[in-house]
Amino acid sequence: MHVYDAVVIGAGQAGLSASYHLGRLGLDHVVLDANPRPGGAWQHRWDSLTMKDVHGVADLPDAPAPGGSADRANMVLADWFARYEADHRLPVVRPVRVDRVTSEGDLLVVHAGTRQWTTRTLVNATGTWTQPFVPSYPGAGEFRGEQLHTADYPGPEHFDGKRVLVVGGGASAVQFIGELAPRTDVLWATRRPPVWREHFDENVGRHAIEMVQERVRQGLPPASVVSVTGLALRPQEQEAARLGAYERRLPMFERIEPDGVRWADGRFERVDVILWATGFRPAVAHLAPLHLRSPQGGIALLQSGSDVQTATTAERDPRVQLVGYGPSASTIGGNRAGRAAALAVRRFLDAQLRAGD
Ligand code: FAD
Repeated sequence: MHVYDAVVIGAGQAGLSASYHLGRLGLDHVVLDANPRPGGAWQHRWDSLTMKDVHGVADLPDAPAPGGSADRANMVLADWFARYEADHRLPVVRPVRVDRVTSEGDLLVVHAGTRQWTTRTLVNATGTWTQPFVPSYPGAGEFRGEQLHTADYPGPEHFDGKRVLVVGGGASAVQFIGELAPRTDVLWATRRPPVWREHFDENVGRHAIEMVQERVRQGLPPASVVSVTGLALRPQEQEAARLGAYERRLPMFERIEPDGVRWADGRFERVDVILWATGFRPAVAHLAPLHLRSPQGGIALLQSGSDVQTATTAERDPRVQLVGYGPSASTIGGNRAGRAAALAVRRFLDAQLRAGD
């Protein structure tokens, strides 16, 4: 039986960064990825999302990110990842959807159907895209119109002639309204008033990441880093802003009815589509047999240095690193966490060797 030093699950930004650094440290590893092609979650993002619409993609180790352009992000970034995997000879195996990871003595066994990989350590880099979150509201099952999540966004043309309710207070909601308001009738509902920011600088970013890390340190489910940096309107959203689309925001409705939504004060709005821009949750169900979760529902991570994005080691099992989780759930965070995780794997294996001497 072959025993790897590390198995990486997921070949997005975080998994590729981890694989690059594991390779540099001479560690024997494999990367298992559920997608049929390179590109992580980016390959599934909607066609109208261009390189100008993304909020900034960080470099991969030893490979500068493609710049802003009118080209589709789902193609440009997928091609970039594919070249990266090939140029750096990363050991990616796909498509492999991991369904569970079990602990067998000192080792971990990664299962995908009938296939298995045995390893001393694990780097989990599965992102959030496969876990779209839709809050439950009474009546949702009786709605006669269409309900879509960010993960299913089919592009603006689909909504022509329809009255659309966009739900959610994050960057995706702002982008959808920017695309839809100039061509159709759009309503916007959020649970909390959105936080608009005038400036975005390093301090704002650092503060946001620290807020997320504090939750993760306490073992709480992480909030998304992107969601706590605040919102800004960009040139592509100015037309919707001119039409007042961002000012006509409503609080959350109380229930969904067959033809629309109703608020606690009796107000009713007829809508054809509810577009849930309500975010994602970490895709970690396959780690359940390892019992990493705290009673608060999150996976607490230990921080090794002063940079909170280097918090990658599971408090409950030091064989397991999580990258792209909590404070490192952004492209820059995934990139840094990949390096931190590889170093933590090296330290763990060295300590085990010393203990065995
Ligand atoms: P992903 O890119 O999601 O990759 C995870 C990989 O794991 C996938 O290939 C998936 O197939 C695989 N996987 C999942 N489960 C399994 C399993 N069980 N077995 C095997 N493989 C599995 N961040 C920025 O920094 N800038 C932006 O502009 C930006 N824009 C965004 C726009 C949207 C709409 C969204 C939703 C997020 C955005 N983010 C942005 C956040 C950013 O995309 C992510 O934080 C980052 O790209 C995630 O990288 P990752 O490697 O953690 O995960």
